Amino acid sequence: MTHPAIIANEGPPFSGLDDALGADVHDTRNPSDVLRAVIQFANSEVTPHWWTRAREAQAGLWLVTNDDGETEAVDHDVARAVAEHQIEMERAFAAEVLDRAVEGAGPLVRRLRAARQAGLRIRVRMEPSIQFTSGGGLRLRWNLTGPTGDSRGWALFAGALLAEQANNDKTELGRCRLESCRRFFLVERRGVGAPQTKYCCEEHRLEAHSLGAADRQRRSRAARKDRARQPRRAR
Ligand SMILES: [Zn+2]
Repeated sequence: MTHPAIIANEGPPFSGLDDALGADVHDTRNPSDVLRAVIQFANSEVTPHWWTRAREAQAGLWLVTNDDGETEAVDHDVARAVAEHQIEMERAFAAEVLDRAVEGAGPLVRRLRAARQAGLRIRVRMEPSIQFTSGGGLRLRWNLTGPTGDSRGWALFAGALLAEQANNDKTELGRCRLESCRRFFLVERRGVGAPQTKYCCEEHRLEAHSLGAADRQRRSRAARKDRARQPRRAR
């Protein structure tokens, strides 16, 4: 994968998760926040903050790092094209990792192993932060820092979390089967009965079923017409 990096010459230093993915998660985080952020990113619900910031920095020079690691100054249109291409590639990467997770722990672990063999590393650090509560208890949270300006390490970390928490090859991730949606979502395993793993919400389950029923009706009508059109063979 070619992976050009674009650098804006303005703005505060990059901070990690919110920067690489655009999720509204700051300061103290838990690993499950990373999972939610990667899902939002793969679903195109958020835009990386590095890109938002770069766009806001109207004036000034745009610097792009090419595949050979050399930095060159380019104009706005070129910078935009490079950045949008980069985000598109990263979304595709995150979606591909999450697709393996939807298939099951086996395919997911094979994907993560292949990523490691290709030299991709997670590079996320977790630092504990202890809070003593007024009730005499204690709360443990994690300060997570990780890749900035490149979300792939975060996507791999989300994949590792899903693989580690998998139960009998089933991960906690689903992807909506409604063709117009295709969102990734976390499976809710609360309450009695089998959890909903095929659709992101009840509305989409109903929509898909009514579309399916209409489709089946159309096909059977077409089949009846075909049969009627066929010439009868005399015996
Ligand atoms: Zn859906």
